[in-house]
Amino acid sequence: MPDSADPISEVILSAAQIQHRVAALGAEIAADYAALDPMLVGVLRGVVIFMADLMRAIPIPFTVDFLAISSYGAQTRPGQVRLLKDLESSIEGRHVLFVEDMVDTGLTLHTLLRMLRERQPASLHVCTLFDKPRLRLVKLPLRYVGFELPDRYVVGYGLDYRQRYRHLPYVGALAAHLLLPGAADDQAP
Ligand code: 5GP
Repeated sequence: MPDSADPISEVILSAAQIQHRVAALGAEIAADYAALDPMLVGVLRGVVIFMADLMRAIPIPFTVDFLAISSYGAQTRPGQVRLLKDLESSIEGRHVLFVEDMVDTGLTLHTLLRMLRERQPASLHVCTLFDKPRLRLVKLPLRYVGFELPDRYVVGYGLDYRQRYRHLPYVGALAAHLLLPGAADDQAP
């Protein structure tokens, strides 16, 4: 547990809570996609910890691929993304499950789903571990949601602050004095 010297002011979700929920999500996905040979698609880098655990919780055949993006700065339209690394496999005719670590405004996801839809997958659904529905700016169908979170900046379990804290096995709120105004905006996911 964090003490006053820690950069984490409060544990929001323990490692055990996360593991339990990820196992349940995996079982649900396995049941829904049993005969569909799905492709899991994730966006680097925030999703890697969740993806690694989720994959091991899905006991059916599937493939996985990743893309990498960078969000443009605050001067440009929100949700505008630059593709740093594309998928290596074709998704045409595949049942794609887009795996996200966090959805808040939904603008990034909205842009990525539009891009993937143009490639004509057989189906396209979303699994996000964390959802901040109060911050949503675009309507998005989220088929699987791990946890709803309050509007607080959190780190751990893949989520970073300035590329730190991704390794924490739990999710915690960053101590307020470490959060510089606007500093979280110029991050790659
Ligand atoms: P949006 O849905 O606003 O387009 O962007 C979602 C992205 O913002 C996530 O993939 C994540 O990179 C980042 N994000 C949103 N909330 C948090 C948070 O509480 N902590 C961290 N580390 N990243 C966040």
